[in-house]
Formats: sequence, structure tokens, C-alpha cells
Amino acid sequence: MRTLILADLHANWPALEAVLADAEGGYERIVCCGDLVGYNPDPVRVVEWTKMHCNTVIRGNHDKVVAGTEGLEWFNEVAQAAALWTKANLGQNHIEYLNSLPPGPITLEDFEIWHGSPRDEDEYITTVREAIPCFPLMSSPVALFGHTHLQGGFFSRYRRVGLIPAVARKDRELVIELDSESLIMVNPGSVGQPRDNDPRAAYAIFDSAQRIVVLRRVKYPVEKTVAAINRAGLPDVLGYRLLSGV
Ligand code: ZN
Repeated sequence: MRTLILADLHANWPALEAVLADAEGGYERIVCCGDLVGYNPDPVRVVEWTKMHCNTVIRGNHDKVVAGTEGLEWFNEVAQAAALWTKANLGQNHIEYLNSLPPGPITLEDFEIWHGSPRDEDEYITTVREAIPCFPLMSSPVALFGHTHLQGGFFSRYRRVGLIPAVARKDRELVIELDSESLIMVNPGSVGQPRDNDPRAAYAIFDSAQRIVVLRRVKYPVEKTVAAINRAGLPDVLGYRLLSGV
């Protein structure tokens, strides 16, 4: 089975459209590791698309705040402004959908997903040191996660933990081959707000029969999202972040 893995869509419709066109239907199901909304100006389209097309979806921290499950106090000023704007621009049905999303981790047949980490959905796993305690908590040899907006991840093999890089700037994809001795946790990267100095939208495809995870990057019309951010009156720093991928 080939699964399209999406994370941190953050209401960026032009980015999601580009990802779907690039993946060309080369998958049988779609899984989302959370953060459908926040930061960008297309929450209605992204929530409705997710509801209709994704087979498994877990919540992210922005989904919780917009749904009202969690308060705004942990967010910086810009994220707060975007969350309040998002709340005001979604219908009750969208809020209810966000509110219905389960927390990770969720274990599927051939891998598991979480938003932040397996022990805390809001924890950021960015370093080997942070990844080490997560491996013993995995119930499957392959995990996919989000939250950091950094593509890549970590492997554990014979008690050695190492890094899996993002797709290089000059490339379109990076293929990670799985072996029976390793555990891996992979972040597909963010569809809607990449922060690894590459403004291209990020995603992954996990092929359980071929035992590979394919990381991908795809260009999208960033200026469209930036113009919509400005039209919506969202903080303009959100547009600059998209243009530089930070
Ligand atoms: Zn996020």
C-alpha cells in the first residue's frame, strides 16, 4: 500500500494543490499528521478537503487552539493573531471537525503517526538527543510525524541513532530504504509553512510493499498565498516566512 503523508498544512491551499498535483494520485490513501489550520488564509478549503479526502487525521496544536480545546497562551503574538482570525473565518461545522480529531499516536497496519512526539503531541523532536527516548515508545518500526516543519528524521540501528536529511535544494526527492534492523521516524516536512530554509512545499509517500519512504519537495506559487495573507489582514511576517522558508 502506498500512503500519501501530509503534515502541517496550515491553511495554505496553493501549497496543498501543488503537492496533490505532484503526487499525481500515486497512492491509495492519505494520512495527515496534524495542523490543518493556523498562519495562512485558506482554512475553509483545507479543512473541507481534509475532511473529504484524508483517511486518517490526527490533531496538531493549532487545530486544538482553533477548536478551543486549548488556550492561546502558549502561542506567540503572530500565531495568536492567526488563530483568532482562523476561528472567526471558519464555520461551526469546521470547528466541530477540528474538535473531533484524535490526538496521536495512532498505529495503522504498517506504521504509526503522531504530531509532536509519541509521549507528548506538543513536543518538538529536532535533535538526535530528543529522538533517542522516542524509539522505545514506538509500536511499529516506522513512524511519521510533524510539528517541527523540518523535513527528515532519525533512524535507530543497533542502538546507534542517526539523522535522515531533507531533500537537497537541487533535488526533487530523497528515497529512504527500510531494513529489518532499523527503526525510523520521519517528518514529511510541512506542506504549508516549511521552516528548513527551503520554501518548497514538502510531503512524503510511504510504500509498505517496496519498504521505502520517499521524501519530496515541490515548488508552488508562494506569491498567491502571500497576496491572500495581505488581503486577509494577517500579520505580514507570515508572508515573509513563506518566501524564505523559515
Ligand atoms: Zn505546525
